[in-house]
Amino acid sequence: MQNYQSATDLLKDRIILVTGAGSGIGRAAALCFAKQGATVVLLGRTIKKLEAVYDEIEALGYPMPAIIPLNLESATTEEYQEIATSIDNEFGRLDGLLNNAAILGQKTPIAGYKVETWQQVLQVNLTAPFMLTQALLPLLEKSPDGSIVFTSSAVGRKGRAFWGAYGVSKFGIEGLMQTLADELEGISSTRVNCINPGATRTAMREKAYPAENMEKNPKPEDIMNTYLYLLGPDSKGVTGQSLDAQPE
Ligand code: NDP
Repeated sequence: MQNYQSATDLLKDRIILVTGAGSGIGRAAALCFAKQGATVVLLGRTIKKLEAVYDEIEALGYPMPAIIPLNLESATTEEYQEIATSIDNEFGRLDGLLNNAAILGQKTPIAGYKVETWQQVLQVNLTAPFMLTQALLPLLEKSPDGSIVFTSSAVGRKGRAFWGAYGVSKFGIEGLMQTLADELEGISSTRVNCINPGATRTAMREKAYPAENMEKNPKPEDIMNTYLYLLGPDSKGVTGQSLDAQPE
């Protein structure tokens, strides 16, 4: 689906929530979905960054987005429930959920991995997507074509030295995706899949590979085809899959 060609207005009238929408891949996805006609709900922890994306979308004349400031490290069940209630009041349903936000943690051997960092990474990268998805599932079920996308990584499919909690959290994301997809298959129209973005020019990639020439990696806006495919109508019936946004 890396070469997927989307129709104009592919996501017209869809309501899609993107986590980590203020920067990196989440920002590019939010802009791309809005360009395709979606009303995007921008969720993230840094309000200034979310406001900048909001302003960009508004200036381009795309559908007016919404902002939800939330720290995924500390958010409570009640806060997730409040988000679901406010989306329900505003839109009455949710058509797409892109669980994108994540943190890298430390790149060190397991032998020296700090327990505190381990817990923080698993909270943001795995427990938060679970809690948000659980809270929003009833709203996705109200959509005629609901799509949940989790964000994976190559180190979430095969363990790699020094990737610590990050790699383990991505293995967890693959497992969460498969479990939920299996639970919903045949009884729901909501599909559940993963995307592995592949090496992409963002702050996280730079932190993970400080010596790398970043210019060789595509920009987030260059890897959006797979995202559009999974969030739009052409992936109807596709569930339980883990797709690559770039050739590996
Ligand atoms: P970035 O670090 O550039 O962006 C991460 C986003 O997540 C930011 O918007 C950040 O907000 C947000 N975020 C982090 N912590 C929290 C939190 N506690 N609460 C709310 N929001 C938070 O990463 P990428 O864009 O590169 O990564 C996006 C996804 O793609 C991640 O899941 C990552 O694991 C995955 N990925 C990326 C690859 C790459 O090469 N870039 C390769 C493989 C997978 P803020 O800016 O405010 O900190």
